[in-house]
Amino acid sequence: MIEITLPDGSIKEFEKGATPMEVAKSISEGLARNVISAKFNDTTVECSTPLTKNGSLTLYTWNDKEGKKAFWHSTSHIVAQALEELYPGVKLTIGPAIENGFYYDVDLPEGNISEKDFPTIEQKALEIARGKHDFEMRDVSKSDALKFYKEQGNEYKVELIENLEDGSITFCDHDTFTDLCRGGHIPNTGIVKAIKILSVAGAYWRGDENKPQLTRVYGISFPKQKDLTEYLELLEEAKKRDHRKLGKELELFTFSQKVGQGLPLWLPKGAALRERLEQFLKKAQKKAGYEMVVTPHIGQKELYVTSGHYAKYGEDSFQPIRTPKEDEEFLLKPMNCPHHCEIYNTRPFSYKELPKRYAEFGTVYRYEQSGELHGLTRVRGFTQDDAHIFCTPDQLDQEFKEVIDLSLYVLGSLGFEDFTAQVSVRDLENPEKYIGSAENWEKAEQAIINAAKEKGLDYVIESGEAAFYGPKLDFMVKDALGRHWQLGTIQVDYNLPERFELTYKGSDNEMHRPVMIHRAPFGSMERFIALLLEHTGGNFPLWLIPDQAIVLPVSEKHEKYAEKVLKSLEINEIRALIDNRNETVGKKIREAEMKKIPFMLIVGENDESSTTVSVRRHGGEDLGAISIENFCDLVSTEINSTLKSFKE
Ligand SMILES: [Zn+2]
Ligand SMILES: [Zn+2]
Repeated sequence: MIEITLPDGSIKEFEKGATPMEVAKSISEGLARNVISAKFNDTTVECSTPLTKNGSLTLYTWNDKEGKKAFWHSTSHIVAQALEELYPGVKLTIGPAIENGFYYDVDLPEGNISEKDFPTIEQKALEIARGKHDFEMRDVSKSDALKFYKEQGNEYKVELIENLEDGSITFCDHDTFTDLCRGGHIPNTGIVKAIKILSVAGAYWRGDENKPQLTRVYGISFPKQKDLTEYLELLEEAKKRDHRKLGKELELFTFSQKVGQGLPLWLPKGAALRERLEQFLKKAQKKAGYEMVVTPHIGQKELYVTSGHYAKYGEDSFQPIRTPKEDEEFLLKPMNCPHHCEIYNTRPFSYKELPKRYAEFGTVYRYEQSGELHGLTRVRGFTQDDAHIFCTPDQLDQEFKEVIDLSLYVLGSLGFEDFTAQVSVRDLENPEKYIGSAENWEKAEQAIINAAKEKGLDYVIESGEAAFYGPKLDFMVKDALGRHWQLGTIQVDYNLPERFELTYKGSDNEMHRPVMIHRAPFGSMERFIALLLEHTGGNFPLWLIPDQAIVLPVSEKHEKYAEKVLKSLEINEIRALIDNRNETVGKKIREAEMKKIPFMLIVGENDESSTTVSVRRHGGEDLGAISIENFCDLVSTEINSTLKSFKE
């Protein structure tokens, strides 16, 4: 008999050789119907793998990340079989699951795959899936594995196998198809009910541009047709909300080939929006005891050698700038932290003066390959809402809580309600990987966990995910389309205070090293605005949106009155504009809708005589005729309901 420990801690006895599926059946038939993958002692196993020793078992369904991974990876086998049948002579390489679906990289004998071929591939793959073929793993010797692929003339799989150890090589079979694979499949092909080929792209073998170019076929699959329909609708919605598209339509930012790729240019409306975001955070930071600093866009190479950033960004980044006469070397600033360490170093501090909190909207530059650039989310120059807190180890606890408060305030004011936190801690089995004393690490990790608990965050602890220089907390924000974004990292750092020899005088009159916290609730202005655009579809919170209202006179006759309305709005600090073109009100409304302006104030004969405005909300709701004063009250009430003062 063997003892199997289940995630709830309960231990059950089974015959030696029992499979995860049998364990599932012993719990409930319902669970057994839904289980598609399993993990035994931290190794992914098949549902049919015989368990031969004591250990802990986790069963996964479609609703688990691991379950989806097995599902999509298994579908990549099915699609590979379809490709083999449709494109005789195709050479298969690798086919992993990815965040949303899977891909398979193939070397086509001739021609290419285009969008018009997708339905044929989907149909073929579904036909295979309907056959309900079991996925079966088998061990194979290295020589047999090599023989199998040499006969097919598949040099890619041969290369993969040559790098594997004899005795560790497995094949996976289903139907008439065989693939080199480490495992992690769903029980059979029949569970896959819907398959969609999403796109094709070129991809170099092993990501090396000197190696052959392959065709990467992207796809996704689901256990129900309905799930696929929903997913495609979501994709459609994501396209509509693409920040690059919205940024253009709302005239927020642009790119110029002349200025250079990955270097966003902020247009007046976008710059004003950024300014509002900055002011919002500056105001809260001031209350939270931060002091603003300003540092240059470049720094001497030595600065970044000291900080260690040169080793990380130097070689593969923008190359140093040399001065013409003295032959000095400068780098574009990849991080603000070294500059802030030097600010701390300008004078000695006593423990009584800590924490010091230096904040800066600091623009940094990092070289990204042109293929990696994407709108505002991957750029070469961006502005971080950066701050560094220098405190004593005893203050970490309190500081961490305060940074969490600030981050929660930022998320709340911008309409992000669905988020979790991830606490990244050491891998206790490899303590040599980390800098700083075990005692300090223990203290910092506890401080983060306590803070997360006390602030009521929904958090998970990820062991081994901490950077070598300190533990951290990340907010994982779910946007309106259900996508997850990492936002607002709070990072503890023992490394930079050491490298910059930062000190403070303790109560014992001895010199000590402060602890440093890096934090940026937005992350960067660019990425945050991109996320905000996609989350809200351009319908920003009222306090932030570029134009809050537009005045639409129904005819030329009411232009004067419209101007008067506009003036009153401006006096009341409402950002408004007027559309007095000689167009129909219908057309003006449609265009204002496109521009996502929250309020349209239509003014005609009746409004003028009774000094009112007829208010129509973005989306169509009619609020009727109200006085200008009442409209201003309406706007400020709405703003105050989302934008509260920090710590009030
Ligand atoms: Zn596989
Ligand atoms: Zn930093």
